[in-house]
Amino acid sequence: MMSEEPQFPPIPDIGDILKLKEGVVQKITSVIKCRECLTKYDRPFKPGDFTFKTLMEEECSNCNQKGLLVIEEIFSEWMDQKKGKIISPKT
Ligand SMILES: [Zn+2]
Repeated sequence: MMSEEPQFPPIPDIGDILKLKEGVVQKITSVIKCRECLTKYDRPFKPGDFTFKTLMEEECSNCNQKGLLVIEEIFSEWMDQKKGKIISPKT
């Protein structure tokens, strides 16, 4: 069996912005797809998330079935907490 190593999203290089701004935080989002009803939605990244992981303990917010959600993609953005705005485009 292949070992499933957690995959972390690449972090955009915004070193210059970080030097100028305080209160900038990295926001990581997991894109989830339900295998039953094919609904796709985002939710904040949780520790242990990785691409293609099946979320056995989470219910689909659309069809309420458990164990059918798969992480399709994980992406990170930089967010200015003060303004509540995303700084970098979606990677
Ligand atoms: Zn569903």
